[in-house]
Amino acid sequence: MVERLRNRTECDPLTKLSTRRFFQGRLRQEIDEARRKKRSLGLCVLGLDRFREINHTFGPHYGDALLRDVARRFTRVTDGSNARARLGGDEFAALFPDVTKAGIKVICADILTALDPPFMAQGVPVDLSGSIGAAIFPDHAEKSLLLFQRAAIALDQAKQFGRGYALYEPEDDPYSQVKLVYLGGIRNAIELNQFVLHFQPKIDIRTKRTRGFEALIRWNHPQIGLVPPSEFVPIAERTGLIHALSRWVLREALSQCRTWRRNGIDMPIAVNISPRNFHDRQLPDYIAGLLRQHRLPPDRLELEITETVMMADAMHVSEALNRLSKMGIRAYIDDFGTGYSSLGHLKKLPVAGIKIHKAFVGQMTLDENDAVIVRSTIDLGHNLGIEVVAEGVESPEIWDRLSLLGCDTAQGYYMSRPKPALELERWIAESPWGIQKRNGTRTTRR
Ligand code: C2E
Ligand code: MG
Ligand code: MG
Repeated sequence: MVERLRNRTECDPLTKLSTRRFFQGRLRQEIDEARRKKRSLGLCVLGLDRFREINHTFGPHYGDALLRDVARRFTRVTDGSNARARLGGDEFAALFPDVTKAGIKVICADILTALDPPFMAQGVPVDLSGSIGAAIFPDHAEKSLLLFQRAAIALDQAKQFGRGYALYEPEDDPYSQVKLVYLGGIRNAIELNQFVLHFQPKIDIRTKRTRGFEALIRWNHPQIGLVPPSEFVPIAERTGLIHALSRWVLREALSQCRTWRRNGIDMPIAVNISPRNFHDRQLPDYIAGLLRQHRLPPDRLELEITETVMMADAMHVSEALNRLSKMGIRAYIDDFGTGYSSLGHLKKLPVAGIKIHKAFVGQMTLDENDAVIVRSTIDLGHNLGIEVVAEGVESPEIWDRLSLLGCDTAQGYYMSRPKPALELERWIAESPWGIQKRNGTRTTRR
């Protein structure tokens, strides 16, 4: 009885291939193995085109026979695979250890060729074609769930564009596939405490010491791992969840700010705010409340607003910035150089500084055009009497160039990557870029 039950959960009775559930377990094991052996693992998901139609026309009995035939052909042609499954309905999957991108394309083409000879339905030859989506560990995903999703996205692409097969391409990812998974999760993730803030120091170029931190959100997703903000912040922005998300970030950042302040690390923390957040008219009051609650002076909070979107929503933004700046909170234009802020506009906005986008900074020692952009942005900022921050400082050469140009503040991997609070405390205590106390000794914790 137990044996039969196990067989049913592990083996699809119709095709004798693994079930989806069993296959997912295998996928996790195979990924662990591939990680240990430092090799790749390919996942192909095959979906049959028009199967439902055929099933409908010839009846489910014929449909079953056809699925068995597909399974036989699929098994025959995937002898390099170490796990195969019928995922359910008309979808099949197989894993291929140690496979290259070129290799998996050959496999996909072979599978499709195996489906070429017509299937017989009650003596009538029927053409049945399939589409395949493929994704490779670790290039496309490091976790099983995400690898599955990415192969499914590739399958959709293949079906949509009639390409036969498609290897996952991040550029083709329509987002909406992942969106469903993320969307359901963002609200819960706040309650489940799955978001974390990492902090990256901002360094004063003249004193070569830390002068503040930027809080950057990450999602510690139980199945996917650490998800960068670029994957979920835009979704939150489009759906209104950004209000709850930003309030969480503000609460968390200011609470950390207070803890550090008590321990002698008394520095401003910058929080990234989406222009959408300014539709929330209560936001300035909410911020004022948090500052009061943590007994923090307003200049311990900095807000960073991305330039591109900022200008699209100029009215809301400038209204809110005026209120916030009257409260003593400093605002920065983030990713400066990617949008269209005119000098006139910039002059009217109550901003304390601009952050030059890392794309220009990162290339400034290699590309003279980028160097010119950085130099003129620094001059522009200084002519307006505001602070200029360079982000994406990855090398000592870039640091030296910025220093020569008179840039005020730098942020980048060269000095420190964004880190969780505890790691950052260690960095503050040990790094030459750490914090200098007024009496000249460097701050250590407590
Ligand atoms: P941003 O505010 O412009 O942040 C800078 C990004 O550059 C961060 O990526 C940071 O990790 C990365 N970075 C820092 N130093 C270097 C470097 O030297 N080289 C390179 N190549 N990159 C560097 P991250 O953390 O993935 O954040 C991406 C963007 O997501 C942020 O860009 C910001 O626009 C948004 N974001 C992050 N946290 C939040 C948040 O709490 N709320 C909102 N609304 N947006 C956030
Ligand atoms: Mg920022
Ligand atoms: Mg930026």
